Amino acid sequence: MKKIVVSIFYWLAILFVIGAAFGAGFLYRVWNDSAVAFRQARGNLLVAGLRGSEPVSATRIYDCYGNQLATAFVENRYPVTLDQISPWVVRGFIATEDRNFYNHGGVDLQGISRSMLHNLRTGDRHGGSTITQQLSRGLFLVQDQTFQRKLQEAFIAMEIERQFSKDEIMEMYLNQIYFGSGAHGIEAAARTYFGGISSAELSLSQSAMLVRMVKNPSGFNPLRNPERCLTQRNLALFMMEDFGVITREQKLETSELPLGVDVHRYELEQDWDYFTEYVRQYLVGRYGWSAVYEQGLEVYTTLDPFIQESARLAIDSILTEKEPYWDPLSNTWSEDGERLRFESSWAHWQAIEDTTSGAPSYIQGAMVSIDPTTGYIKAMIGGRDFQDSEFNRAVQSRRQPGSSFKPFFYAEAIEQGWSPGSVILDQPVVVDLNPGTWRPRNYDREFHGMVTLREALARSFNVSAVRLGDAVGIETGAARAMAMGISSRLPIVNSLPLGSCMANPLEMARAYIPFATGGLARNTTAILKVEDRYGNVLESNEQPDPGRRVLSVTGAYLMNNMLQSVLRAGTGTGAHWYWGGPFAGREAGGKTGTTSDYADAWFVGFTPDLVTSVWVGYDNHVIRMRLKNGRGQSGSSIALPVWNSFMRRVFIESDTALAPEFPGPEPGEVEEVIICKVTGQLANAACAENSRSEMFWKGTAPTTVCEIHSDSIGFAADTTLGEFNDFDRNFGQGQGD
Ligand SMILES: [Zn+2]
Repeated sequence: MKKIVVSIFYWLAILFVIGAAFGAGFLYRVWNDSAVAFRQARGNLLVAGLRGSEPVSATRIYDCYGNQLATAFVENRYPVTLDQISPWVVRGFIATEDRNFYNHGGVDLQGISRSMLHNLRTGDRHGGSTITQQLSRGLFLVQDQTFQRKLQEAFIAMEIERQFSKDEIMEMYLNQIYFGSGAHGIEAAARTYFGGISSAELSLSQSAMLVRMVKNPSGFNPLRNPERCLTQRNLALFMMEDFGVITREQKLETSELPLGVDVHRYELEQDWDYFTEYVRQYLVGRYGWSAVYEQGLEVYTTLDPFIQESARLAIDSILTEKEPYWDPLSNTWSEDGERLRFESSWAHWQAIEDTTSGAPSYIQGAMVSIDPTTGYIKAMIGGRDFQDSEFNRAVQSRRQPGSSFKPFFYAEAIEQGWSPGSVILDQPVVVDLNPGTWRPRNYDREFHGMVTLREALARSFNVSAVRLGDAVGIETGAARAMAMGISSRLPIVNSLPLGSCMANPLEMARAYIPFATGGLARNTTAILKVEDRYGNVLESNEQPDPGRRVLSVTGAYLMNNMLQSVLRAGTGTGAHWYWGGPFAGREAGGKTGTTSDYADAWFVGFTPDLVTSVWVGYDNHVIRMRLKNGRGQSGSSIALPVWNSFMRRVFIESDTALAPEFPGPEPGEVEEVIICKVTGQLANAACAENSRSEMFWKGTAPTTVCEIHSDSIGFAADTTLGEFNDFDRNFGQGQGD
């Protein structure tokens, strides 16, 4: 009688707490949701899944056309019927997990109140979940610990009890639970841990060990933590004796036995590459290992197989062609006194030196190609051979972007009111470092006097960029780069405009998106849609990121125009692909990058429909890319040709007449005047071939007419710039970075 009173008291107390805290409406909603979820999940798949007769629940990864790229699943699942399972296993689980199993209706309120009391006394967080509740928990992909989720589990458990017999529930449970080491279900556990025996053959000792392993599959792993595992097995024996399913003698005798494990490892599927591995890591991080390997997801990605193959072929062909002409081994920095590494990267550089000892010694390349209008990753190459090295250089590496970082500072300057025709000094500058001083040099080791922003960017003058960084502010320039998509931490140092930070190809491509979109930055994604095995959509990017404005429309237009000059008349003139033939009329811009010691070569190029970053270098940062004659290899001599080859392949089948165009400026915000490219002032007739058209923010064009080209003043030869338009266009000759 007393027992019944206590039991009723707990009933009432629990109902009161639940009712008072959340209200009947909430309960009803959860109950309703659960019923709907269960009805959706019910059906053949669910029953098959619970009973374990579904052989594998593979996660399938598809490209953007729905072709399968890869599958992920655990092969280690062998469904068995209850009569094929050692009775010790069933008795063990009931004794340790759910002593009321044969009496409750899915939820054991006595069990819950007992564990609540126990928790109050001891501070433990004991579950008190029945075997049926644990079974229902397995239906959820995301293992929440919320109160609402617990209620859902309870409701579904009650539903399961209504529809299945106790033996069916036990059978489904034993086929579903995870025992660690990739073993799903009792049969797989028996085979995995005990040398391939069947679950019918499991001894009392073996059963007791497995019964406790489900509580903490890795913590109680017999290989990793044999002592904890032994303790847990003996705890199970103690509880089984306590519950009366084994005798005291059986307990004592069995407790003396060794674990006797003989582990057989399982194999996962292996048809992976850098992109699918990138997706797999994302999925495991977001949904958990179990969702990916056991429950099965349908994953639709943004990858375009044609663009991906074009990227792979471009990297392979260019690097295979060029590497034999290099002599990397004789060109490590330790043998070269004029090494220059920026301080910000030095510590990182040293730190990774030790870790590159096992890395492949051949030249590496990485590429990311993104549709700027959606942020979808269309191609990703993380290295030259995934089987050889799974390190994904497209997203995991941290390399100096060099001059390919300059455009972010130019963009900041443009937004502050500078124009492509604004003049900046390219004259020696001494930068205070702490300690010491630093005199930035240009790639050609010359200084160029007064230059326009357009020319300084197109020809990648370092000294101008340092002066510009000083003028606009390092911190504001860094903030601009981050707003545009750079996610790595940026050091606030005077050399930052020269790219003395660390970045990876994915973020570099992402940060160039605003140059192609008229100023809109976008999040990048490899995921189009993820569904569970019942077809429920777990996440979707089918509505692409609408973008956020990080550059003004006209500012983005001016930057875009300057970055087109890089290809037409700057360090990017080797990008022959769009100059003629089938591609004539396409619009493109980009920027080269080379670190001062030739350890990294970059090119980030874009069209209205594809932003692509290319990185080339050795895994070992100390190895320089140099020809055997000692000449350094730059972004324009190795990374740019990869982009060139890639774009030819990508666009070869497409109709140039239908090619999209870059967005224009806001009406009335830009004016074009004819300037003298020597002085940057308004041209007069005497400037002759030095005249050229240039863009300014409306109202900021120069008003002074050229002061050096006139009949009264002679030609000032010592301030004359080299012929900008006649800049060396030889393909791949390493002119400039
Ligand atoms: Zn002039």
